[in-house]
Amino acid sequence: MLPEAKEAMREAMELRGNPSSIHADGRRVRDLLDVAREALAGRLRCAFAEVVFTSGATESANHALLGLALAHQSGARKRILASAIEHPCVLQLAPVLGQLGFRLETVPVSRDAVADPQRWADRLSDDVLAVAIQHANNEVGTFQPVREVAELAHRVGATVFVDAVQTMFEPWTVDELGADLVALSGHKIGGPAGVGALYVRAGTRVNAWIRGGSQERERRGGTENVLGIVGFGAAVRTLLRRSGDLREARAASRDAFLRRLAENLPGAWTPTVPLQSALSGHAHLLFPGVDAERLLIAMDLLGVSASAGSACSAGSIDPSPVLLAMGLDPKAARSGVRFTFGWSSTPEEAEWAADRVAEAHGRVAASRTG
Ligand code: PLP
Repeated sequence: MLPEAKEAMREAMELRGNPSSIHADGRRVRDLLDVAREALAGRLRCAFAEVVFTSGATESANHALLGLALAHQSGARKRILASAIEHPCVLQLAPVLGQLGFRLETVPVSRDAVADPQRWADRLSDDVLAVAIQHANNEVGTFQPVREVAELAHRVGATVFVDAVQTMFEPWTVDELGADLVALSGHKIGGPAGVGALYVRAGTRVNAWIRGGSQERERRGGTENVLGIVGFGAAVRTLLRRSGDLREARAASRDAFLRRLAENLPGAWTPTVPLQSALSGHAHLLFPGVDAERLLIAMDLLGVSASAGSACSAGSIDPSPVLLAMGLDPKAARSGVRFTFGWSSTPEEAEWAADRVAEAHGRVAASRTG
């Protein structure tokens, strides 16, 4: 976590009072929520009232798509289009949307994990309620042509949901994306885990489905996660001042890692997608002939934490659905590893990690032949 987020949370811990109470203690806590909401609104360039705090991006995506479906149950628009490489917080809504009378359809991506606007245009018609397209993919890190897809979707009157969890370090605004709904998460930007936000453009009809209180302007019942929101807000304020530095810190570590890996493990790996089109802190690599699970275990024993598939489903040995959607065969998909670098990573650490990866690779390869 960013030091600013920790500090803000430590201070907030000293306060007592429920933000919905009208006494002075309650109002002091309410003020902290307002400060955090202001920070989010400043970052997204949206109105204060368009920010809803949630428990994270998973809830935000559920809130957005199920809430839209609930609000439009009697309408004629029954299709929702989602990119084939969306996070499970979107794709796993298919059965629930089905129960509500809607069909979630996936739109394929290219071998480089990028959406093709033409394919979206071919599927869009006036029976589409919404489209879901992530700003950048969490596994391979590719940016998606959100603005183009949003323009096409708006032409047929569909609502645009964007999962922008991975791109808070990048300079964009909700208007530039053309988004009506945007999901964000605290723990991807140096804030705490278990808190997130949903941007809801004024006028977008999304029904509340967490009920039981009038919090968040009746859009999400339940006492707010005050400490989490305070930490998230502080991290966003830091981003407003230093997102360029933090992004460059990640890129410097990623590049140092790749340089060192090219030196000490030449020919044993290839980038899964062109890295210039990926997030600055991401390096998704294929290690042909090597089982990623075994490599991950060997790396973990040497102190390197990386992942295969989406981190949220770690522990599963199935090949990553994202890599399969890109057209990789299951064997190649099982050889993919995602390395990510944070704002606090350093090039020295990254080089150290590259040496450990080479060592782990040697062990796995030796055990395979031995
Ligand atoms: N969307 C993307 C692209 C993610 O990377 C993640 C988390 O890793 C999520 C959604 C889910 O976010 P949260 O963990 O806040 O529920």
